[in-house]
Amino acid sequence: MKKKAEWVSFKDIKEKVSIDDILSHYNLIEGLKRKGNELIGYCPIHDKNHFNKSSFSVNTKKNIWHCFSCGAGGNILDFVSVMENVEIRQAGLLIKKWFGIDSQEDKKTAKEKREDKKKEVNEKANKPLTFKLKNLDYDHPYLKERGIKKETIKEFGLGYCKRGILKGRIAIPVHNEEGELVAYAGRYPGDPPEEESKYIFPPNFKKSYVIFNLNRVRDNDKEKELILVEGFFDVFNLWQAGVKNTVALMGTSLSKEQEELILRYLGKDGRITLIFDSDEAGEKAGKEAIEKLIEKVYIKVIRL
Ligand SMILES: [Zn+2]
Repeated sequence: MKKKAEWVSFKDIKEKVSIDDILSHYNLIEGLKRKGNELIGYCPIHDKNHFNKSSFSVNTKKNIWHCFSCGAGGNILDFVSVMENVEIRQAGLLIKKWFGIDSQEDKKTAKEKREDKKKEVNEKANKPLTFKLKNLDYDHPYLKERGIKKETIKEFGLGYCKRGILKGRIAIPVHNEEGELVAYAGRYPGDPPEEESKYIFPPNFKKSYVIFNLNRVRDNDKEKELILVEGFFDVFNLWQAGVKNTVALMGTSLSKEQEELILRYLGKDGRITLIFDSDEAGEKAGKEAIEKLIEKVYIKVIRL
């Protein structure tokens, strides 16, 4: 059988190898000055004597380069082609060899690997729901009884469910941090009879992977400050009192995943205020949360 010529996918190469990678390959990075997405310095193509230290310019975001003196420029393939004095296809083969790109499948970039990891976590987390509850009663007396205002009901999409999976309960939409609807919590409107629980969740729903209301806070909060409370209604009450950066654990103790969500959101100098009930469950949840977060963020604790 006739041996096929080696396959070169320019698209593949350009996706997997950056201009930074190429310049590093030639040990040129050190000599260039970085300004945001731009690298500036001597042109390695025409300026062997370092005559003009700013003629060569690289855009690391677009992975393109240009020399204002000699007029050369292009993408990574063009660069290698000029440096090696070869055709583009040959430049592609060289890049493939240098960076170990064997086929379109393997040798994922660091970014792709990070995304894979994120995907893996997401796979364990809750899947977005494929439906939305309709015909909820937004005027149910229980909501008024709890002092929940109309705009709060509207903002959070609360309503009494007359039929369907949450029949006889107040439906509370729960979103993940990306704002995707992942569950409805069902609150019994009032004190539930003994055989019923105050809240029900979908059977496969993992509370420990969600921080309630983080999606809204993320859209509004510029200060990187969170108020962590125990339950939904604490969030609603504070929200309508003008405190928009409140999130809730939904009645669990702080899980590893929730801790990560909080830390990722707050970043290095983040601040968090914990507000927990002074009953036994509240004390326990509060104490655990403090222990987990104390070394990582600024904490303030308020007991009700
Ligand atoms: Zn040049």
